[in-house]
Amino acid sequence: MAAHDRAATGLQHAIIQTLRREGPQSRADLARRLGVNRNNLADPLAALTAAGFVHEPNLAASTGGRKARLVELNARAGFIAAVDLGATSLDAAVTDLQLHILAERSEPVDVAQGPTLMLERATQMVRALLADLGLTPDRLLGVGMGVPGPVDYRLGRTVSPPIMPGWNQFPIKDHLAEAFGCPAYVDNDVNIMALGEQFAGLGRGAESFIFVKLGTGIGAGIVLGGRIYRGSDGCAGDIGHMAVDGSDVLCRCGNVGCLEALAGGPGIARRARLAAEAGRAPRVASFLQEHDELTSVDVGHLAAQGDPGAVEVIRETGRLVGRVMASLVNVLNPSLVVIGGGVAQIGDVLLASIREAVYRRSLPLATRHLRIERSAVEPRAGVLGAAVMALDEVLSAEGLERSLRA
Ligand SMILES: [Zn+2]
Repeated sequence: MAAHDRAATGLQHAIIQTLRREGPQSRADLARRLGVNRNNLADPLAALTAAGFVHEPNLAASTGGRKARLVELNARAGFIAAVDLGATSLDAAVTDLQLHILAERSEPVDVAQGPTLMLERATQMVRALLADLGLTPDRLLGVGMGVPGPVDYRLGRTVSPPIMPGWNQFPIKDHLAEAFGCPAYVDNDVNIMALGEQFAGLGRGAESFIFVKLGTGIGAGIVLGGRIYRGSDGCAGDIGHMAVDGSDVLCRCGNVGCLEALAGGPGIARRARLAAEAGRAPRVASFLQEHDELTSVDVGHLAAQGDPGAVEVIRETGRLVGRVMASLVNVLNPSLVVIGGGVAQIGDVLLASIREAVYRRSLPLATRHLRIERSAVEPRAGVLGAAVMALDEVLSAEGLERSLRA
């Protein structure tokens, strides 16, 4: 690319970022914000308008009574498809370019059925959503997807995911890009949940925060300096497989003593069963006589009903998670820890135990301004974050260059 093309793309990107961040504004204000001469905006704005990314529909009163037209991002220039695959659920949504969710669907699934079947279902869900909206797939500018395992973000492949048999090295990104004829982006589910929380929840404006997902698996999405920190290979925040002192429970990853094996959903249910067998959890015991299955949320309900064994299991879960969180808090000094995921639905007893353990074991300076709260955007954190991830890429300098060249 010639130097002047690169400069033009840079200015187009800066215009888009300013409009996303600050909303519609006049050409004069935009030029002032970007520190350029207003005349220099004419060409990049013409290119962005021709591509449909911006328009100037509004009339606003300016000083002196004349009406100034406002440049704004064209929310309907295209659409984003977002998919959040969990161990047991599949959620999909279609958004506009201002990330309003226009349509969404959810289905129960079993991720262990493998990538071909799961991605086929995800693709069908997105096509059905587009059809509901009267849109054809060629209106999609990008697809974002979260999956419950480690992802090589650049390649868009899962890497040895413990709870996703059959998915190792599967080219999810390429598969989705081919299915929809547009760029696709894939990350692990907790990173996209952190992005969703940052866009619409408690993480708005937070420079450094951690989103902890407590579900079948356990993981943390780390936002540092306003951006997701993925580490050098994409597995930063994989706290589910940190070792817990004194535990010899076998984890699905093959190691023993992982946090997830004890404090993930199945681990909580298993410990509650053991408490019932040992005679310490009478309500859990009678529940098990009437039901084949026991989930972590059931254990939470039984704890809320006063079962002493269930209460102890939930408190111990909070202590285990809290100790690992305390280490992260000491290292990263975030201002906020957000707790989400299915197990977080257990509620206040669990949250209180996590808080207690974090505050007890973290350095006073690290917790002076620390808040620990439940997610404000669940159950939509995942799909919202997948849409944020895809839109950020579509409207990045490289993404815009690709669109404007097409
Ligand atoms: Zn493990």
